[in-house]
Amino acid sequence: MKLSLIVPCYNEQEALPIFYKEVTAVMAQMDCAYELLLIDDGSRDGTLALMKSLAREDEHVVWLSFSRNFGKEAAMYAGFCNATGDYVAVMDADMQDPPSLLPRMVEILADGEYDSVAARRTDRSGEPPVRSWFSRQFYRLINRLSDAEIVSGARDFRLMRRDMADAIVRMGEYNRFSKGIFGWVGFKTYWLPYENVERVAGETKWSFWKLFKYAVDGIINFSQAPLSIASWFGIGMTAFSFFMLCFIVLRRLIFGDPVAGWASTICVIVFIGGLQMFFLGIIGQYLAKTYVESKHRPHYIVSDTNGEDIKKIG
Ligand code: UDP
Ligand code: MG
Repeated sequence: MKLSLIVPCYNEQEALPIFYKEVTAVMAQMDCAYELLLIDDGSRDGTLALMKSLAREDEHVVWLSFSRNFGKEAAMYAGFCNATGDYVAVMDADMQDPPSLLPRMVEILADGEYDSVAARRTDRSGEPPVRSWFSRQFYRLINRLSDAEIVSGARDFRLMRRDMADAIVRMGEYNRFSKGIFGWVGFKTYWLPYENVERVAGETKWSFWKLFKYAVDGIINFSQAPLSIASWFGIGMTAFSFFMLCFIVLRRLIFGDPVAGWASTICVIVFIGGLQMFFLGIIGQYLAKTYVESKHRPHYIVSDTNGEDIKKIG
């Protein structure tokens, strides 16, 4: 049994040595064959040099270096495309996905009942309350809108069987939202709860605004509901305005209405104009995704690696 550990790294020169030490210690205890797939996502600090020096000392280390920063999703995809293990795991380099959970995860898979084990934070301590609130609302919303099961507090930290990893590679969409993809491919997942851990070193790459955009992208990638909402809203407003029209015509016939209500007319026009723009925007978002998708661009480009048989463009 061989284990592949996929680790996307972007400017992780502080955290990576700590992670490497810990993961190596854990793997030494487990006594199974493994590879450590370090993906350098176009880092601008000493991350790549560090990977190279680790690889010189340790034959488990396989590193791939991207030609620029393609984002964590692309880095994970590159990992999946190049992982050779029977079990494949994805984890962050910042120790927020504790390597100490790995033995337990492997044990659960080895029992044979489950196809994947996913880590799930039981709390969100150390996170600003506003962010936690938004994040909880996001999970509520996306689960109502989408048919892929997306669990709140789930991280991308997961161990899975080869079959599931192959299915993920086949999900070749350009706009990737892993939490949705993992849910979409299905398979039996065991949720392993653990307490939230803060990043050991370095800084998170997520600002509030970036997270917000990530959430919107997630919804657009895994749900068509916003488009139907636009249609339903349109139908509702048409029905409403029809009744208003009947009311006004009758009032005119019965009371003979003098000209009035200029301000309210303008308000209604602006309101409807705004709604139309808003829904046009939603359609635009989907169209933009479709446009990017239709170009079939590669997800990542590897400029350098120490591995053999590496899929360099994928
Ligand atoms: N990461 C990456 N490319 C990016 C941004 C992040 O490969 O463009 C990696 C990063 O090095 C880390 C993981 O993705 O291993 C998670 O990043 P981070 O800790 O910043 O996110 P958070 O844990 O706050 O969600
Ligand atoms: Mg992190």
